[in-house]
Amino acid sequence: MASGGGYRNGNHKAQNLRVSSSFKSKLPPSTSNIRRSSSAGDAVSGRVRVAVRLRPRNAEELAADADFADCVELQPELKRLKLRKNNWDTDTYEFDEVFTEFASQKRVYEVVAKPVVESVLDGYNGTVMAYGQTGTGKTYTLGQLGDDDPSTRGIMVRSMEDILANISLGTDSVSVSYLQLYMETIQDLLNTANDNISIVEDQKTGDVSLPGATVVEVRDQQSFLELLKLGEAHRYAANTKLNTESSRSHAILMVNIKRSVSGREADASGEFDDTSPLATNFKPPILRKGKLLLVDLAGSERVLKSGSEGHMLEEAKSINLSLSALGKCINALAENSAHVPVRDSKLTRLLKDSFGGTSRTSLVVTIGPSPRHRAETASTILFGQRAMKVENMLKIKEEFDYRSMCKRLEVQVDKLIAENERQQKAFEDEVNKIKLEAQQRVFEAEQNFAEELKDEKIKCQMEYMDSIKKLEEKMLYQQKHPTNGVTDIGESHRGFATEEVSELKKLLQNEIQIRKAAEEEISNLKDQIIKLSKQELPGGSSDTIYLQKLLEEETREKKRLEEEVIILKSQLTFEDGQTRSYADRGRNGNSLSGLESLSSLTHPHYKNGSNGDRAAITNLHEQVGLHKIMSLLESEDASVQIHAVKVVANLAAEEANQEKIVEAGGLTSLLMLLRNSEDETIRRIAAGAIANLAMNESNQELIMAHSGISLLAMTAAEAEDPQTLRMVAGAIANLCGNDKLQTRLRSEGGIRALLGMVRCRHPDVLSQVARGIANFAKCESRASAQGIKLGRSLLIEDGALPWIVQNANNEASLIRRHVELALCHLAQHEVNAKDMISGGALWELYRISRDCTREDIKALARQTLASSPTFLSEMRRLHIDV
Ligand code: ADP
Ligand code: MG
Repeated sequence: MASGGGYRNGNHKAQNLRVSSSFKSKLPPSTSNIRRSSSAGDAVSGRVRVAVRLRPRNAEELAADADFADCVELQPELKRLKLRKNNWDTDTYEFDEVFTEFASQKRVYEVVAKPVVESVLDGYNGTVMAYGQTGTGKTYTLGQLGDDDPSTRGIMVRSMEDILANISLGTDSVSVSYLQLYMETIQDLLNTANDNISIVEDQKTGDVSLPGATVVEVRDQQSFLELLKLGEAHRYAANTKLNTESSRSHAILMVNIKRSVSGREADASGEFDDTSPLATNFKPPILRKGKLLLVDLAGSERVLKSGSEGHMLEEAKSINLSLSALGKCINALAENSAHVPVRDSKLTRLLKDSFGGTSRTSLVVTIGPSPRHRAETASTILFGQRAMKVENMLKIKEEFDYRSMCKRLEVQVDKLIAENERQQKAFEDEVNKIKLEAQQRVFEAEQNFAEELKDEKIKCQMEYMDSIKKLEEKMLYQQKHPTNGVTDIGESHRGFATEEVSELKKLLQNEIQIRKAAEEEISNLKDQIIKLSKQELPGGSSDTIYLQKLLEEETREKKRLEEEVIILKSQLTFEDGQTRSYADRGRNGNSLSGLESLSSLTHPHYKNGSNGDRAAITNLHEQVGLHKIMSLLESEDASVQIHAVKVVANLAAEEANQEKIVEAGGLTSLLMLLRNSEDETIRRIAAGAIANLAMNESNQELIMAHSGISLLAMTAAEAEDPQTLRMVAGAIANLCGNDKLQTRLRSEGGIRALLGMVRCRHPDVLSQVARGIANFAKCESRASAQGIKLGRSLLIEDGALPWIVQNANNEASLIRRHVELALCHLAQHEVNAKDMISGGALWELYRISRDCTREDIKALARQTLASSPTFLSEMRRLHIDV
């Protein structure tokens, strides 16, 4: 094996290649350069690193070997060790590191163990093992606790310090088991009860585990130190019990590190390219599992030689078995032998991954300086040299942490479920809120609507009442003023009248019955009186008086009832019957020249009544008796009077009745009413009746004889109602048409009365005034033509000219015609000419002669102008062509 002055073993070349290598630089980089993977194909080669450490001379050696030189000479700078064969020959060996007796514990840790610890933290398996003769410092190097001197802390203590400093206790975990292998039995140093722990190998991965061993999680250095002490104590106790020494057993500290790799670190590895957020969320975290084995082997010396003769051979064999099996395996690995007898011992099974496996492995071979143990030292050195040839394939132990991903996802799902429930609740609350609001709004809208409906209903009712009221008022007005707008409501009025008539008929029937009953009672009473007077009972006179009074009363009642019946009948006649004014016949009459009439003295629609109705009136008044009706005109009862005057007026509208009325004293009665009645309606109707009667010439004289003119003039002066004025004007106008009455009419104020009534601007009144003036002028012109009248026109005398001139061109054609005629008549009498010229009448006459639409009047005017010398001369003076 050795060769003088050169490298000793046949692997010299290979070793040479590794001379410059160091523990650090030759080890796989701890992070960046290793492609991390859980698959078998991504491993990197990593040779077992071996350092040699020389123990300082102990007291015994110092004393005993003081004169002898050490058997080894170290060249640490060259990482070489020279083993003296004899005084003249040395063998030189190269190691990955050579520690002199002065090497500090710290340096030994940092060079030998620290790179392995770092690899384990990165997810590799790692092994740090001490091999050497008993007493050379294996335990000192690995297991020294350094309680008294912290500088002496060994690899176990310093490794755990490093591990705890580099992991995060929140996500990572560190656990330890502490075992002893003695005579092919594995004992649990943390629990003495476990004294035969079996090794389990995973068939797929080949991983070795000790499921029976106590596993203690380490969270701090102090508790780890306690564990080490406990293990040490158990080891001592066990060895005492077995009557052996600790040097004959192997101590194995197993440290398991689990580290969770953050997503970013994992992404940096390039294994996860999926960038979608969902994929990131569901990417399982990576779990790295590193296992660190710190193995303090039993002494490598031969049993017999080391003074263990007292022990049973079996024990020695067992001790030799594990170590020699390890040696054989390492030899096989070093020589790339096809067969590695791993299964030969428990130690080799436990260290299966450490030599020829995936672990990063460092070995410290410890030697002593004493030449007395030269052979053992040489053997140890050779073991180290062979171990340096073992190549491991480092593989990261990394897996997806599905369990923690599952937990994380569960937490996320729980969060989402809670959030969903919250949102669901919020949504339901919102829906309920909206629903309530909507209901409230609908309710409010309904209320508002109901109120508005109520208001609208009230308004409609009010409007309805109003229109009903107006209608009633209108009808009332129509009843009072029959000519005004009657055509608008003629139909309804007729309906009303029909109803009224039927009501009156009923009343009449009633009254007739009452009268009959009263008559019967009277005759009864008469009979009783006769009986009583015949009996002539004493003291009966008072009864007789009473009965007479009763009889008188009954007679009065009878009279009253009779009156009432008459009134009712006549009223019925008046309302129901067809009446016509004198004017209907006035067209054929002599007084009006077919111009105008009081056509609407009574209700216009009565004009359309049937002949049957008219006959009924005649029958009725014949039945009741004219005298009776006339007498009612003087009744004290105003309502009786008004009905009576209506009946008389109605009768007076019929020419056939007029004579009879006058004969019965009706005219006188009517004039009396005009004089005495306080009631405007009565006066109006009386005036109307008088106007009708005044169509007859003899009646006209009669009216004059009863100072009718002054009565009419008085009424004209007092009345306000246009209808009354119209009637009065109509009556006077009729009187104006009588040639014989001219002077008297004028002297009793007839003309002035006519002119006075123009204060009322009602066209019906003005029309009657105009007719009266025209009639009067006609009579005057006739009289002057006959030479009866000589002087100026009485109309002019009474100041009618200005009004005549003013109304000569009145827009109402009826008024205009009368006035035009009046002008023509006045102009025919030469004595009027001067007044007419000065009054502006000439212009009007001239206009009539040119523009009048009535050809006869136009011709009359032209003729009149042409025949008057005064007018002609005036016109000539004004250069007007005739
Ligand atoms: P082993 O475990 O190999 O049997 P130990 O570690 O028990 O050897 O060491 C034997 C003795 O030598 C112990 O008292 C130990 O303190 C001491 N010793 C070992 N190595 C050193 C060293 N490098 N420096 C100081 N003392 C040491
Ligand atoms: Mg020891």
